[in-house]
Amino acid sequence: MKIVKFGGSSLASGEQVEKVFHIVVSDPERKIVVVSAPGKRYTEDIKVTDLLIECANAYLAHGEGKEQFEAIIKRYASIADDLGLSEKVMQTIHDDLLELLNGDRSQPEKYLDAVKASGEDNHAKLIAAYFQHQGVEASYVNPKEAGLIVTDEPGNARVLPESYEALYKLRNRPGILIFPGFFGFNKKGEVVTFSRSGSDITGSILANGTKADLYENFTDVDAVYSVNPMMVDRPKELRELTYREMRELSYAGFSVFHDEALMPAFRAGIPVNIKNTNNPHKPGTRIVNERENTNGPVIGIASDNGFCSIYVSKYLLNREIGFGRKLLQILEDYGLSFEHMPSGIDDISVIVRQDEMDARLEKKIVNRIKTELQADDVKVEHDLAIIMVVGEGMRHNVGTAAKASFALARAGVNIEMINQGSSEVSMMFGVKEVDEKRAVQALYEEFFAAVPV
Ligand code: ASP
Repeated sequence: MKIVKFGGSSLASGEQVEKVFHIVVSDPERKIVVVSAPGKRYTEDIKVTDLLIECANAYLAHGEGKEQFEAIIKRYASIADDLGLSEKVMQTIHDDLLELLNGDRSQPEKYLDAVKASGEDNHAKLIAAYFQHQGVEASYVNPKEAGLIVTDEPGNARVLPESYEALYKLRNRPGILIFPGFFGFNKKGEVVTFSRSGSDITGSILANGTKADLYENFTDVDAVYSVNPMMVDRPKELRELTYREMRELSYAGFSVFHDEALMPAFRAGIPVNIKNTNNPHKPGTRIVNERENTNGPVIGIASDNGFCSIYVSKYLLNREIGFGRKLLQILEDYGLSFEHMPSGIDDISVIVRQDEMDARLEKKIVNRIKTELQADDVKVEHDLAIIMVVGEGMRHNVGTAAKASFALARAGVNIEMINQGSSEVSMMFGVKEVDEKRAVQALYEEFFAAVPV
């Protein structure tokens, strides 16, 4: 039995939904279909989830949002029209959304989550109606009634373990099940969404809960690439990578698959196959527990920007006990999470995402570090990019770091920071944002394009 998930661009128009239908019915093992809200049809298009957020904000601010409401209804109506569906489906979607928008707005975060989640919920209803219209036994599944229970963290939910047992029962339902992605319910029965692009997470949770044999994740690219195709022309496609490699890559900017979506599938040992809705016969990329290291030490290079580093130096830091804890406590006091923490004998840097710390907060933090920790120097450096060089093979390979730093030196890129991940699956380089692209290209050249001698 397979769980199949389709992303927003795979469900953005009637034509795309037809492709999805053919993919699902071509394999009787494709039993549970997880769907996103309608995504972009072309580059400048707006995702339904973004329209819903705009609409909810308009209602929160002025008690109405007619323009946005109509734009959302129009998106669904054009899909329903293309598919020849009856008025009834559209009436349900229209009434459901209107009721939600006019619902309780006393807790804006909860209100926003409920409106956001309707994007996938209504699309699941529409798609189930289309499958039935095509004469196939199919039904919409309500995540609440199926038992998908999550933490009460609006816009950032995590699954609660009791969900898995409840979801196993889905196996016994007849026909194809259409399950909306992106949200679950808290213990009080209220909608809570995962973080953005979270339908990937729903698919993974269902794969784990139902003990599926495979989790197929359909998107709009043929494969996961070894590097961002916007930075390197026609990069190498990856046939297979491990969960750990994928996690490191997607965390640092590979947007093909949500970085939190791997864990449930990994825990149950279920392979993930990323495939293209527009090219379903291509093998795609498989994410597995172990792979043969036939690729050399490095499998992929990822990068992300918008980081800053808080550099702290203090003479004899190496002899002080509890310094790191006190430093991190200051960040914790302001609810900041840190990404990396490279350290030296007398200094330590903490890397955080820049958008988590505005100028005022930065000043407060610097002052506290200076006074409470009696640091000799505290400096914040902005506009940094993080580059991750990832590969299981690095563990057994001598000289990967040397090759990487040599490639960066040749490209004239100054390395601000370097950190060999404790997992030994990755190596992190911090560079200035302006150097990011050049650095990634130089590393790609070194590890993938260099002609072996
Ligand atoms: N529709 C949601 C988003 O745009 C979730 C998803 O597509 O996975 O973030």
